[in-house]
Amino acid sequence: MRRPSIVIAVCSVLLVTGCTAVPASPARPVPTGRVDDSVGLSTPVAEPTYPKLGNPGIDVLRYGLDLAWDTRTLSGTATLTVRATRALDSVVLDLSDAYALVSVTLDGAPVAGTLAADKLTVPRPLAAEQRATLVVRYRGTPTTTPMPSHRPDAVGLGLNVTADGSLWTMQEPYGAFTWYPVNDIPSDKALYDIAVTVPDGWAGIASGTPGPVEGRTFHYTTTDPVASYLTTLAVGRYQKAIGTGPGGLPLTYWTRAEDAERLGMLRESPMLLDWLERRLGPYPFPTAGVVLVESPSGMETQQLVTLSGKVRSPAVLLHEYAHHWFGDTVTPSTWQDVWLNEGWATYLQRVWEAEQGPADISEWERSARALDGGLRAEAGPPGHPKPGNFAEKNVYFCSALMLNEIRKLVGDAEFWALARDWPGQHRNSVQDRASFTAYVNQHTGRDLTALIDRWLDSPTTP
Ligand SMILES: [Zn+2]
Repeated sequence: MRRPSIVIAVCSVLLVTGCTAVPASPARPVPTGRVDDSVGLSTPVAEPTYPKLGNPGIDVLRYGLDLAWDTRTLSGTATLTVRATRALDSVVLDLSDAYALVSVTLDGAPVAGTLAADKLTVPRPLAAEQRATLVVRYRGTPTTTPMPSHRPDAVGLGLNVTADGSLWTMQEPYGAFTWYPVNDIPSDKALYDIAVTVPDGWAGIASGTPGPVEGRTFHYTTTDPVASYLTTLAVGRYQKAIGTGPGGLPLTYWTRAEDAERLGMLRESPMLLDWLERRLGPYPFPTAGVVLVESPSGMETQQLVTLSGKVRSPAVLLHEYAHHWFGDTVTPSTWQDVWLNEGWATYLQRVWEAEQGPADISEWERSARALDGGLRAEAGPPGHPKPGNFAEKNVYFCSALMLNEIRKLVGDAEFWALARDWPGQHRNSVQDRASFTAYVNQHTGRDLTALIDRWLDSPTTP
C-alpha cells in the first residue's frame, strides 16, 4: 500500500547509493493458455491478527469469477476449485452478507448454502485432501467493510461503488469477500480467471493478464498464484493505453477523463521497472500496468497497480511496483509480517528518491529515526502492530530503518544481493519472519537474529 506521508528535511547533497546494478532482464514470453490447478496449491494458516477472516481448513486452488455489473447490482457466478487441508464437516468461506445467494452446488449437486455474518457455509463434508468444485451464484449491491486503521487515507475496504456507478477496490488487509466468495487470508494464494461484463461503452478491468474482449465482457487470467488482497476490479468509463516495459514486458494504463493528464506519469513505468529490475531481478509476472481510481490511496494489486487518480509522484508508483517483488510474488503468511512488504517498498522508494536528489538517504534516516519511538508507542513495534492500527507508519519506517541498519552492517554489495535473491529464491510463495531471518543469516554468513528481533520487537527505538 502507498506509504503514509512523512515530512522530510531536504538535503543538498546527492548520495551516490553504490548499488550493485545488474543488467535488466532479457525478453520474456507472455504465457498463453491455462496452467495446472496445482500452481494454486497453498498451506493456509490461521490469521492471528484478524481471526474472523479465512479458513485454514480450505485451500482454494482456482477462482473462476464470472461477474456482471449494471451500475447498481453485481451478479456473480464463482466457480472455486477447493482442497480440504483436513477432514471438514462443511465448507466455510468469506462472502459479504449484503448479497443474496441464488444457488450453490458442490461437484454438481445442489446444496442449501447459507450466508450470515459475512460467512458462506456449505453444509457438505469433505475428507482430508479431497478436492471439490464449488459453484456459487449470488447477486446484490456491494457494501464495503471498515478498515482497521487510523490512516488518514483509510477507506471502506473491498468493492467501492462511486456516485456514477463505477467500481474500484482497496482491500488490504481484507475485503475481497465484498465481491466474491473467498478464503480471504494472505496465506491462501490461488489462480484466477475473471470475466466481467459491463455497461455499453464502459470497461471492465481486473488483476491478471488481459485476455480477449467479447462484446461487453472483459477477460483476465493468471498463471501465477495471487493472494486475495492483491486482486482488483474496476469498472467505469476508461481509456486504455499500452506501453512496453523492460524485456518487452506488456504494460496497460487505464485512465478516466478526469485523470487523463496522469498518463504522462504512468508512462514512466518502464523507467521505474527498469530501475527495480536492476536491483531486484526480473519483474516476476508476465504483464504489468496501472488502473487509476477514485481511492485516495494506492495498492500493489498483482500485475496491475490500483492507484489514486490524484497521485502525481512517480515515487509512489515505484513503491507500488516494488511490492510486486516484496509482497506479491513473496507474500507474508500473516498480517503480523506486513513489515516484510512495507519495510522493503519504503526503503526502495527512499533509495530511488535519494538518487533523484536533493535529499539523501542519511537525511531520510535522521528524520525517520526521530519519528520511530513515537510510531512504536502509537501503533506497536513493527513486528507486533496493533490490530486496530493496520498499515500505519510503524510498519513502513521502523522496518525500513532496520533494512538500512542491515545495509550499513553488511555493505552495499551483500545488501543488494540479499534484496535480489529473496524474491528470486522465493517466487510465488508465502514467507514469515523466521524464514526471512534464516535467509539473511544464511546469505550473509552472520547471525543477525538479534538485530532483526530488536528492530521488530522493541517498544523503543533500538
Ligand atoms: Zn506499500
